[in-house]
Amino acid sequence: MNAPVRKISPYIFHGQTTSLCSQCFSLVPAKIIFDDGNVYYLKRCKVHGVEKALISSDIAYYKLAQDYIKPGDRPHVFQTRTEEGCPYDCGLCPDHEQHSCLGLIDVNEACNLSCPVCFADSSTGKTYHRPLAEIEKMMDALCASEGEAYLLQLSGGEPTIHPQIIEIIKAAKQRPIRHIMLNTNGIRIAQDEEFVKQLAAFKPGIEVYLQFDSLRPSVLKNLRGADLTRIRRDALEALERHNVSTTLVVVVKRGQNEDELGDIINHALKWKCVRGITFQPVQDAGRNEGFDPAADRFVLSDIRKAIIAAGTPFTAGDIIPLPCNPESISIGYALRNGDKIAPITSYFPREMLVEALPNAITFEKYPDLHKQIMNFFSLSTVECNNPERLDALLCCLPQVPVPEGMGYENIFRIAIVEFLDAHNFCISRVKRSCVHFVTPAGQIIPFDTYNLFYRDAAARKRMAMSKGRATA
Ligand code: SF4
Ligand code: SF4
Repeated sequence: MNAPVRKISPYIFHGQTTSLCSQCFSLVPAKIIFDDGNVYYLKRCKVHGVEKALISSDIAYYKLAQDYIKPGDRPHVFQTRTEEGCPYDCGLCPDHEQHSCLGLIDVNEACNLSCPVCFADSSTGKTYHRPLAEIEKMMDALCASEGEAYLLQLSGGEPTIHPQIIEIIKAAKQRPIRHIMLNTNGIRIAQDEEFVKQLAAFKPGIEVYLQFDSLRPSVLKNLRGADLTRIRRDALEALERHNVSTTLVVVVKRGQNEDELGDIINHALKWKCVRGITFQPVQDAGRNEGFDPAADRFVLSDIRKAIIAAGTPFTAGDIIPLPCNPESISIGYALRNGDKIAPITSYFPREMLVEALPNAITFEKYPDLHKQIMNFFSLSTVECNNPERLDALLCCLPQVPVPEGMGYENIFRIAIVEFLDAHNFCISRVKRSCVHFVTPAGQIIPFDTYNLFYRDAAARKRMAMSKGRATA
């Protein structure tokens, strides 16, 4: 008699994490599986059954990201205690594994747009502006946690319409904060020349983080509720006139703008003031009208592949995992001369990136990078004694020396930043989160858990549901 044949699993079981049920937000076990060339979480909720969420469309890159994990860089102080367990103790609680590479402060809820996609759920119907004194306390909480904070983003709402936004920036300038960014939809920048002059007057300069999702009116209407093409152009012209460093931020939604990422990179290179682009898959948080997770999700690896396929100078080796949070952030750095770029990230060896602390690169140790810089700028030699460094957006990247007379305008960077929502939530990824909101109570909370569980009444209701103390 023949023994029955054992069945082979249709997928590779790679590992296990804890995720969330996307319906009741309960913590649920999630198998990490490789299936059909993709990485999925296979989740099982006792009430809502099995759910399969796409995590990555590139198994090789998913595995590579895990090789980039480096030792955590802990904050000076923690603001809460570890009591109920992650994600209910934010934060930061002592169980968190990464400091705030980037701190965010919402200066208001008021906005001059009502975007169909807004993780903050802001709108023209909201009027609240946070008092300056409270914002200063929030800055102090960030500085106490960080010692010297690397990067503060002033966000909202629309921060440029806060009546005291200039005073807020001045207050940030008086504190130990290396870089300040102003997140904006660009409307005031496009319409108020005097305001742009005030921004340009800050020394050292601040950077504008400009919403720039698409070159197509139809996409802008879908994501922002209005055709902002002219606003975007006028804003960039004003920033260019006044030489204000600018990063474009592009929210990517499947079926809308995934086919124009290369065009956006080429467009960015026409503007001297643009130092880089951050691409973000839509996070299913806040207001996200008409979002269908089965059809609309476009994950980090999809964006990376789309950029590589678009024919820009960035190839696969040039967009690498960011060591402090490698599954959630990819970065690519390039030298820039006018509208010409030459990526250099592939010259950063993995071993050097995953060292505990970021280092300045010396050319003796990295001769290929030295050669690349000399060739690109047609120089016969590049000395390391120029105190100027190619400034990294995030603190765990190495600093690269630049030739005499060159500076920030000679670097161009792209970043892909994927935040977690109830679909892709992963307990180990969230503990490595390095993008954090500061609250008026002085807490510091990862972007991901803040929007899911802490931001507002709706988030707190999700938290109660997650703990089994409320129903939908
Ligand atoms: S996300 Fe971080 S701060 Fe929040 S509970 Fe988990 S470990 Fe603590
Ligand atoms: S996404 Fe920005 S511009 Fe749009 S409503 Fe929200 S805060 Fe305002």
